[in-house]
Amino acid sequence: MIINSQFDSGNIHVISADDPKNIRLSINKDAHSDFYQWFHFKLHSTPFVEHNVQICDLAKSAYPDGWENYQAVASYDREEWFRVDTDFDGDTLQICFTPEYDAVYFAYFAPYSYERHQNLIAAAQTAFECRHEFLGLSVDGRELNLLVVGDENETPLNADEPTQKKNKIWITARQHPGETMAEWLVEGLLNRLLDEDDGVARKLLEKNVFYIVPNMNPDGSVRGHLRTNALGRNLNREWAAPCVKNSPEVFYTLSKMTDVGVDLFLDIHGDEALPYNFVAGTEGNPSYSERIAKLEERFKCALSATTPEFQDVFGYPKDAPSQANMTLACNAVGEKFDCLAYTLEMPFKDNIELPDPSYGWSPARSMQLGEDLLVAIRAVTDYLR
Ligand SMILES: [Zn+2]
Repeated sequence: MIINSQFDSGNIHVISADDPKNIRLSINKDAHSDFYQWFHFKLHSTPFVEHNVQICDLAKSAYPDGWENYQAVASYDREEWFRVDTDFDGDTLQICFTPEYDAVYFAYFAPYSYERHQNLIAAAQTAFECRHEFLGLSVDGRELNLLVVGDENETPLNADEPTQKKNKIWITARQHPGETMAEWLVEGLLNRLLDEDDGVARKLLEKNVFYIVPNMNPDGSVRGHLRTNALGRNLNREWAAPCVKNSPEVFYTLSKMTDVGVDLFLDIHGDEALPYNFVAGTEGNPSYSERIAKLEERFKCALSATTPEFQDVFGYPKDAPSQANMTLACNAVGEKFDCLAYTLEMPFKDNIELPDPSYGWSPARSMQLGEDLLVAIRAVTDYLR
């Protein structure tokens, strides 16, 4: 029996793997930090024999609540990731599985590989009205990639028409690299936005320009981290004063935002514990206003009407006035640019209101939510300024 994780986003430590009925594993911490939750490994063993895989020492993991009612994902072909029987006793996750083939992959959620990321960027740049911009290098020297969708030129084609300032819509994903559903969502959103036959996309691109960073944390993604960059920095706590040495990923993104402006910001994440899709806003920001509150309401109503995958009942507790953590991207950007800013969270488990026992929350559903998000964005764009 071979258990291996020496590949893109692989992460597992083998304690013992002699007996298929008693395989004991643990999860390596993100480099220079105490966070650990993301796992991804390959088991090469004997088909049609029951295997009992135990992932130990999870009471001290980043989100112990994340393992309650959680089902791990597995794949034979690395395309289709299905849920497998999983139990949690408070410290050990136990996966009971009888493989049908020689090798099977297990992961915390369907991985989104660095190769797929590069394919996404390369394909997008060939589309009409999409540019690929390089923002800077990560700590490990990977490219931080920005896609600009829409015509940035604000001069009207007809000289009689007034110049109309276009909204700058920013979308970032995977500050927390283990939250791969965030990049799946961006792939779905991009597919629709770049579809020249899609009316919603065409209307959006008349008056808006999209600035999309599909992967804010390429180093953490490749290293198999849950939450941090190569230096152990939680990027979503770096926005008050990003530093080119410790958090270049945030530094370069915020610099570009400052250059072009921000009229709407969506930062895409996954939540380990809550089985819902929801948003978290900027109600705790010092400059939070009636204008922002109305925009939030309009956005949430439109998204609720578009898809039953979204709801606004369950989520994070609201911040008290002026009590927001200004190191978070959503709060920092919302405050600096006085704009509608949301953190959007998807589940690692499932949407409990629309459960799917076979796949749970999945790449397909994340991509669909990305497409639907454009309808909600369209509902607010005429009111952003
Ligand atoms: Zn996150």
